[in-house]
Amino acid sequence: MKETGTISIHTENIFPIIKKFLYSDHEIFLRELVSNAVDATQKLKRLSSLGEFQQELGDLTVEIEVNNKKKTITVRDRGIGMTADEIKKYINQIAFSGAAEFVEKFKDSGDAKEIIGKFGLGFYSAFMVSDKVEIITRSYQDNSEAARWECDGNTEFSISPAKKKDRGTEIVLHINDDSKEFLEESRIQGILNKYARFLPVPIKFGQKDKSVEDGKDKDGNPKYKTIKVDNLINETEPIWTKAPADLTDEDYLKFYRELYPFSEEPQFWIHLNVDYPFNLTGVLYFPKLKNDFEVQKNKIQLYSRQVFITDEVKDIVPEFLMLLHGVIDSPDIPLNVSRSFLQSDSNVKKINSYITKKVADKLGELFKKDREAYQEKWANIGMFVKYGMLTDDKFYEKAKDFALLKNIDAKHFTLDEYQEQVSANQKDKDGNTIFLYTTDPAKQDTFIQSAKKRSYDVLIMNEIIDSHWINQLEQKLEKTQLKRVDADTTEKLIDSGEAKESVLSEEEKTQLQEVFTKAIDNSSVVVSVESMATDEMPVSITLPEFMRRMKDMAATGGGGGMSFMGQMPETYNVSINANHVLSAKILKAKKEDTRVKYAKQAYDLALLSQNMLDGPSLTRFIERSVELASK
Ligand code: ADP
Repeated sequence: MKETGTISIHTENIFPIIKKFLYSDHEIFLRELVSNAVDATQKLKRLSSLGEFQQELGDLTVEIEVNNKKKTITVRDRGIGMTADEIKKYINQIAFSGAAEFVEKFKDSGDAKEIIGKFGLGFYSAFMVSDKVEIITRSYQDNSEAARWECDGNTEFSISPAKKKDRGTEIVLHINDDSKEFLEESRIQGILNKYARFLPVPIKFGQKDKSVEDGKDKDGNPKYKTIKVDNLINETEPIWTKAPADLTDEDYLKFYRELYPFSEEPQFWIHLNVDYPFNLTGVLYFPKLKNDFEVQKNKIQLYSRQVFITDEVKDIVPEFLMLLHGVIDSPDIPLNVSRSFLQSDSNVKKINSYITKKVADKLGELFKKDREAYQEKWANIGMFVKYGMLTDDKFYEKAKDFALLKNIDAKHFTLDEYQEQVSANQKDKDGNTIFLYTTDPAKQDTFIQSAKKRSYDVLIMNEIIDSHWINQLEQKLEKTQLKRVDADTTEKLIDSGEAKESVLSEEEKTQLQEVFTKAIDNSSVVVSVESMATDEMPVSITLPEFMRRMKDMAATGGGGGMSFMGQMPETYNVSINANHVLSAKILKAKKEDTRVKYAKQAYDLALLSQNMLDGPSLTRFIERSVELASK
């Protein structure tokens, strides 16, 4: 007997709403139907393992079939099926309380995911692409009768007895004119590859009437025939569902290659597995970082019980971990996640901090277990660890024990080790430990050599992120300052407070200053005469740490609104070593011209050592050098 009725959703017509407002992601109808089919199959497997279903399970493959002639898509499973009563219960009485409220609330939002997720409209998403939907289903229970449900997109539906030999459900979508794209094989294949690739039940995509070339006719034109094709879509037991103990390195690498066919091998990976206070499994890979790391974002895929949800994991994975690759699977994240859900959900926040912790633990473990290997990887993971430290305080707390500093002799130290290493020799008069660093060992060599003469250690800080990290270290490490080797004369970089005795009198110093001011002839340069060691350069050009750091930060996008700093001209200090023999020589020269010439020569040498001499100045320097050498 055929029965008709009205779908009870207390509003005249839900379908126009579904069609009109759920425009963004029409393709998800297939994901919804296939995951319903998978759920029904999994339920049956469970009943079977509990002994509540005693017949053969047989082949449980879920089939998706496109029929171009009939303009239908069919999703067929051999799961638990439904009785007519169950259809009424699960399909007709859509579980939601106030439909009026719903319409009010969401008519402007158009966020399909939010609507579907909130109101369990998974099945109804079929109407986004269909004029008519049929369900032909038979329950797994003994002696159950098959039933057919039909609905043409109005609130009217019909249920009637049907003929179906096998248990399970067949959903037939009569694709509407606007959605013809979904009758294309490649489109469906693409959607299935995206959403169904790792579903736990075999998924087959078939075409009843695929047109293929079949030889030539007598005129030499190609002949066609239609054939039935089947394609297995998925891998039912992807590695994240397995126990790490059962997996080899090769398994992880193989999976990585499957996910990212054109990428270099990853450096290492973390297998995530937690069941309290939320469920989460997954594998995260540390890729080899390229300089251009923007393009590598959005590589982590989010799944819920092996159904692909999204690869926009911004709110689930901490920002600094976005550079990782891999898969996260959590049933606690609904299929239809909306932005607002992710941002407000407390589970998501917990997942976020769990992942941060896991990553930190893994890095700490690698560091402890095999420091050599870890140090070799540091060039690759350093940037990422520093980024994490900068953006996440909790991560900083853990990472401070395995973040490494590297010096110019290519030795690595933890922060604590380094403090220990340099604190004796590199303390200033106020008790601050001074870490010296270079951003460019080749260019700053003069200063590095000078520091070495005093047995100072010099770190290499030549990554883009370092200018930010330096600031952080200074804030976090107690009584510690970082200075670039050319931030001041070596004498003053680490100021012991002991004034060097001056060979020159105050009057001679003033004379010397006048000579150099004249020779340099640049009002924006600060010239000072200082008493330094005799083996220091006669003239040094230094870039004050503070100014330079602001410039660096501005150049890499930090420093708030100080982007103008990037355009500022180089400002620098010129320090004259009063105790150098050249200073005495200059003062001894009788003619003013000779004095200025010597001063110019000394100043040019300083410029040269900072790579700041070019153009006509360089030419004049060379001419003057030749002249002085020929004397
Ligand atoms: P949800 O899957 O979120 O519960 P749906 O609208 O997709 O919402 O489905 C409603 C219900 O219909 C399901 O909970 C299930 O009981 C039933 N159902 C849907 N598809 C199938 C199927 N292929 N086999 C058996 N039952 C199904």
